[in-house]
Order: sequence, then structure tokens, then C-alpha cells
Amino acid sequence: MAKQLPTHARVVVIGGGVVGCSIAYHLTKLGWKEVVLLERKKLTSGTTWHAAGLIGQLRATLNMTRLAQYTAGLYAGLEEETGQATGWKQRGSIAIATTAARFEELLRGASMAKTFGLEVHEIGPGEIKRHWPLLEVSDVVGGVFLPKDGQTNPVDTTVALAKGAAMRGAQIFEEMKVDAIRSERGRAIGVATERGEIKAEHVVIATGMWSRALGRSCGVNIPLQACEHFYVVTEDFPELTPTLPVLRDPDHCAYFKEDAGKLLFGAFEPKAKPWAIDGIPKGFEFGELAEDFDHFQPILEAAMRRLPSLERIGIRKFFNGPESFTPDVRYMLGEAPELPGLFVAAGFNSTGIQSAGGAGKVLAEWIVGGHPPMDLWDVDIRRMQPFQGNKRYLAERVSESLGLLYAMHWPYRQYETARNVRLTPLYERLKGQGACFGETAGWERANWFAPAGREPKYEYSYGRQNWFAHAAAEHKAVREAVALFDQSSFAKFLVEGRDAEAVLQRISANDVAVEPGRIVYTQWLNERGGIEADLTVTRLSETRYMVVTATATGVRDFHWLRRHIAADAHAFATDVTSAYAMLSVMGPHSRALLAELSGEDLSNAAFPFGTSREIEIGHARLRAARITYVGELGWELYVPSEFAVHLFDRIVAAGGAFGLRLAGMHAMDSCRMEKAYRSWGHDISDEDTPLEAGLAFAVKLDKNLDFIGREALLRARERKTTKRLVQFALRDPEPLLYHNEPVYRDGGIVGRTTSGAYGHHLGRAVALGYVHDEDGIDAAYVESGSFEIEVAGRRFAARASLTPMYDPKGTRIRS
Ligand SMILES: Cc1cc2nc3c(=O)[nH]c(=O)nc-3n(C[C@H](O)[C@H](O)[C@H](O)COP(=O)(O)OP(=O)(O)OC[C@H]3O[C@@H](n4cnc5c(N)ncnc54)[C@H](O)[C@@H]3O)c2cc1C
Repeated sequence: MAKQLPTHARVVVIGGGVVGCSIAYHLTKLGWKEVVLLERKKLTSGTTWHAAGLIGQLRATLNMTRLAQYTAGLYAGLEEETGQATGWKQRGSIAIATTAARFEELLRGASMAKTFGLEVHEIGPGEIKRHWPLLEVSDVVGGVFLPKDGQTNPVDTTVALAKGAAMRGAQIFEEMKVDAIRSERGRAIGVATERGEIKAEHVVIATGMWSRALGRSCGVNIPLQACEHFYVVTEDFPELTPTLPVLRDPDHCAYFKEDAGKLLFGAFEPKAKPWAIDGIPKGFEFGELAEDFDHFQPILEAAMRRLPSLERIGIRKFFNGPESFTPDVRYMLGEAPELPGLFVAAGFNSTGIQSAGGAGKVLAEWIVGGHPPMDLWDVDIRRMQPFQGNKRYLAERVSESLGLLYAMHWPYRQYETARNVRLTPLYERLKGQGACFGETAGWERANWFAPAGREPKYEYSYGRQNWFAHAAAEHKAVREAVALFDQSSFAKFLVEGRDAEAVLQRISANDVAVEPGRIVYTQWLNERGGIEADLTVTRLSETRYMVVTATATGVRDFHWLRRHIAADAHAFATDVTSAYAMLSVMGPHSRALLAELSGEDLSNAAFPFGTSREIEIGHARLRAARITYVGELGWELYVPSEFAVHLFDRIVAAGGAFGLRLAGMHAMDSCRMEKAYRSWGHDISDEDTPLEAGLAFAVKLDKNLDFIGREALLRARERKTTKRLVQFALRDPEPLLYHNEPVYRDGGIVGRTTSGAYGHHLGRAVALGYVHDEDGIDAAYVESGSFEIEVAGRRFAARASLTPMYDPKGTRIRS
């Protein structure tokens, strides 16, 4: 270990757990030398030392799986590289299902794994028993076997990563607590310790459950909270063989592994116990928490039913240790939006050992390259909302998050804790009308409406859920009459000042130097041509613009905007999301309804598509924008929040005569899928260009106007497009698509779906998805192929199209 604390470093990594050590390892692997890692106590002394060491590779999404796959490969070779034993063993893993729904979930996961070559086998109870002879399988429906999964010794693996980093020049200091993160002119510039200060170009917080407090000390939001996390180690268990794969029994919240002749089994119980809500006790190191036998007992009883011979074996160790959990059970990675130069890797939700390799690699690449090396939105810290740092919110939410690791991952599953926190002004009105709410970025949004006499409550399944028919009726109203959506949660920014046009012109791929009153659909691109944001920019006046973007990307997009306003520019951005409600009135009867309410001429001549202006309804003045996300004639109405209820009441009172129906987000999603409207974070991301995403029509490439990403797009235009977003519709009206299903063309896998929904007008499941072909993809390629989509192991024929299957010419929106 190094002794003399340097005064300068390129990167200071704070935290010597598996994550911090992996980041230091990968930074040095990329050739960076002045890397310093500071650990307040001893390496691994936080959470890492007591992890069970399971390395599973199949994760919820493609990119997370790719990272876990990388981790397994890294650990397998670490001993040879560093000379430090890691305890890595590749014995595979089995997940079992005791219900048909769980089996479908496993098979859908296995299908997804095919798109990137992860080996997964479907196995029946007999084969499961052959792998684990002691197992009671009478209730088992089936399972999946991943032969390449492994397990490792977390302490030794961390030490090996630290050794690898040190071998390439990193300096590692134990007993070196960081007391403060220094910043200057809004940028992190180093750290302070009791033995002195280190100036650094980049600082990384990898301090596990300490991260929330450390982040808050420098104004950075890192919403995580520690929970108690349990496992048990038995006395010697002679019937266990050392080659047993890891076993997961998610229906009974438990995992099992052979551990040096003993059995280790742990729990992901449905209601967890948050720990140290007011702060981690001072001096906590290699800490264990008190046993809680009552809490663990249901898991133990289920384990004994699964492994009857367990009844004869004594328990040697009842372990309880803290681990940090996040509100959405995904970790947080990336540059903090509040403080450039400060990076975060924390909140690993009991998957830190299996995630550390991949997370360390991509964070190091992010630091060195200046941008995420791949689409990391699943774990990007910019998805977090400021309110989520609230400790009472966190304590309540993480008591649910821990159990979600093994709970059924139902489509459309909603959180049950810490709800009704962020409400639009229309919440009570919608509730009174039977709304069933879902949560996005903390906002309660009406997802669907239950008719009178029906409870607005989800009944989950992989098939048609209980709201299917209600969403279908809402969809029909959008297509044939008129529907009202509450889109108040959509993020809204004002950009004002003499340079507002110049700022937005530079970051927008489309031309925003338009007449006041025009709405421009545009992407914001990065230098690589990837899509950072997908939104509308409305010019309000010479010096004022309004930007509207999705609820989930508000924090991210606002920071992108702010970062691209030069210090000397006369342009000011304000997040006005809460100031304005947004009601959208969509459908062929919307013109008649709004014309009656406003007394205005809303004809095509007077109010063309893509324009916006003030109108009056009731006693409110509001901004009406003729634009749509559902593919119909319609207006979005932006109104000061305090007038929202008044406006809503007027629309609803007049709406009956026009066939008005309240509609929710599920109907909106189904409509936008039919029209092939893209959703950022699903169908488009920072690694997809508008050319690949089929959005070239919204790019000012031929206008000789400069904008971020232009050069990259000009270069890309010269090459063949080898990746292209395509719309699909299953020929069989029965199966449902969600996302991540493999796409086949002429029998071979060419891609995967990025989002899916049932298209009620088209009468079948619709999806968007990327297809890849090195020889290039054009309309002829799509039209001449025979496409199939795989759902839970079965392939279904699909129609594919580059133009929207619903209203391809856009006549309805311009009608
Ligand atoms: C019972 C249990 C079983 C688990 N099993 C598994 C498993 O099978 N597979 C798996 O993948 N994951 C598992 N995990 C999760 C895994 O252990 C964690 O996700 C992982 O260890 C987190 O690593 P980390 O580096 O983020 O945090 P930590 O290991 O906590 O490291 C953070 C470090 O930062 C240091 N630090 C804090 N503040 C400062 C400061 N101001 N200055 C300097 N240093 C500071 C701390 O001392 C600590 O050493 C398990 C967890 C538990 C509790």
C-alpha cells in the first residue's frame, strides 16, 4: 500500500469496496496512471466482505446482462492476471418456477438471452432433480439452467481487483476517510482528508451505503438506503457435492449454494427492514447486525420444504448485514448532473459483486472518454428525482425494493410503497372517475380507468390483464371520438433571453429558428450523433421558447440543456414543470369540442398542425398546441396549474356530446405504438442516431446550420445503415409483446424489440425493434424478409414496416 498521499491525481476514487476497486482497476487498464483510491477503513470492510458471491448473468435488460456477462468473464481470468486467488467457480445456476406465470417469466428471460448469446437451457423438474438430488420438486413446473453462471469470493476478488489496479500504478490508501468533496465554479476539483487535500480532475463516489450522505454534503442527490439483508450458513452438510450449481427459488424468496461443505441460503423477503435511516453509525466496519430469527423464519420453513434434509442439519451462522437499495432496484452510475466532474457508482441492491466488473468498466470508460460508452439509461443517475433523496420516502420504498429482486416481474407492475407523493392538480378528479394510477418519476399518472362498479386495481399476469378491455375502449375513443389525457407530469422548461435561439439551435438537430407560435419536434444529439433527448421546442416569442419532454427524462434533459448554455450566453433555462398542467384532448372530435368551448376558429387554416397559441376556455387563458403523441387530430393544453381543475371540469362537462372519454397512459402507449412514435429510453437512446431510428425527417442536415452531432451524422449518411428501427405487428392476434423479445428474419436472429404494446385498432400486438445487418437495411430488406418474434420460447410470424402501420401518411393528424 502506498504511504505518501499525493497532492494531485487524475481521478480520486472514494471507497474500497468491490465497486471502487473495479473502477480503479479499469481506469488503469485504460492506461490512466494517476489514479488514487481512498478507503476510510480496510478494503471490503463496508458491505463487500459479507456478500454471498453469486454471479448471475441474466438481468432484466439487454445492456445490464451484457455488463454481468462481462463481470463473469473478468472474474474468471483475474487470478491468472494478478496472481491473487479469487475463489471463482463456474458451476452454473438454476432458477426454478412453481407457477406457470413464473415459468413464463423465466422463459421470456431465456428468450431475451438468445439475442446476445448467453447460454440458457429450459429444464424440467426431472433434470432439476438430477442437478440437485436433494431437492423436493413435486411443486416445480420447470426452470432454466445457465451453465456459465458462477460464484466468487467477494473479499479475494476485490483484493485481486485492487492488486490489478496497483500493478498498473494506482495508489491505494486504507484508513483514509474523505471528509469533503471540493468544488470550484460548479465543478468537482478534489477531496479533503484529515491527512491533506488531493486535487483531481475527476472524483468518484463509490462509497456504498455511505453515498447518500457524502453526496448530500456536496449537493448531489444519491437516493439509496441500507436494508438488513440475511443469509444462513449451516453446519457441515455431507450430502452436498461441491459441484452443485447455485439454486434460486424466487417463488419462495430464497437462493442456495454449496459453500465449503456447508449450505448457504439467503433471502429476498417481500418486506425488508431498512437500517440506519438517520445515518450509518460512526466507525461501522466489518459490521454485523443483530439476528432476527422471526423475520427469517418464513424463509427457513420454505427452505426446509425445498430441501427436506435441511431439517437434520444445524445452523452455524445466522448472518445479517447491511446493503444499500434504491427506489427502483437499479444501481446509480454516471456523472452527477448537479456537479460535473463528480461520478457516482452506488446503490447496488445486493448485486454489487456480479455488477462490479461491468459497472467499473463502463464508468472508467465514461470518465476517460467523456461520455457513456453504451446506453446506460437503466442505471444512469440522471433518472433520479430530487425528492427521492428524502429519507422517509427511501425508508418506505426500500422495504419493498429488496423483495422485488425475486418477486414476479409482471408487466406493468407498480410499486406499492411511498405512493401518492407527487400529484398533478387533477389527481382527485381522476381518482373520482375510476383512475388506476401508475408511478413515473414519483408522479401518479392515470394508467387506465375502471368503469363504475369495478375496482381500479391491477390484476397482473403475462396475458391480458384486467384493464385490457378498458384501455381498448379508451383507445377507441381516441381513434373514433375524443379522449382527454392528463399529461401534467411531462417536463416543461422555459428558455429565455437574447441568445435563446442560438443555444437551442446548437443543441437541436431540427431547425428551431422558426416563427413564434411554431412547434418543432426535435432530437438533441451528442457529438457521436446519438440521441440524448427527444422533445418538442415551441417558440413563444423572439426571445422565449418552451421545451416539453417526457416525465422520466426531465432531470436528464434539463441538465443537458443547462450544460450547453455558455457562461457568457444571454439565455436562461427554468424548469416550469410544476407551474403548468397539461391536458391533452385527442381524437377526431377534438376540434369540435374545443371550438365550442373556446369559441375560436380551430380549422386547419386558422390553427394548422405544428402551431401553438393562446386561447380561452372557461375563465382560463391557456396555450393550445396542435401536436400529438397518439397519431390523431388533437391539442395539448398548457394551463397554469391552479386553473387545471377549472379547465378539466369545463372540458368534461361539454365533452359528453362529443363522445369524450378519459384515457390513461396505457391507451396512449398503445396508440403511439400503432403510429410508431418513438419513446426515448426504450426505442431511442444515446447510442442510436436519428438515421438508425428513422428520424432523419426531423434533422436539419441539409440546411447548412451547425448543431451538435452534425458531423457524425454527415459521416454516417455516407455509410450503409446497418441498424434500423422497424415496426412489427404479430400476425397472430393472441400473444402479447413487451420488450426485449428476439426478432428473426428468415430464420436467423437479427435483433430484438425495444417496446411492445397491444394495438387495439390494429387488433394485434405491435412492437418497435432494431434489426441489424452488415449489408445494410432499407425498405426492400424489410419488405422482402420473413420476420418472426419469439415470445417465451415460441416464434410468431410478424409483419414488418419502416412506415407507421397506422395512418402512414399522417392524414389524420392534419385532418
Ligand atoms: C448478505 C448479503 C449478501 C450479498 N450477496 C451478494 C451476492 O451473492 N452477489 C452479489 O452480486 N452481491 C451480493 N451482495 C451485495 C454486495 O455485497 C454489494 O452490492 C457490494 O458489496 C457493494 O459494493 P460497494 O463497493 O458499492 O460498497 P461497499 O463494499 O460498502 O464499499 C464502500 C466502501 O466505501 C468506504 N467509504 C465510505 N465512506 C467513505 C469515505 N468518506 N471515505 C473513504 N471511504 C469511504 C466504506 O468503508 C466501504 O469500504 C450481498 C450483500 C449482502 C448484505
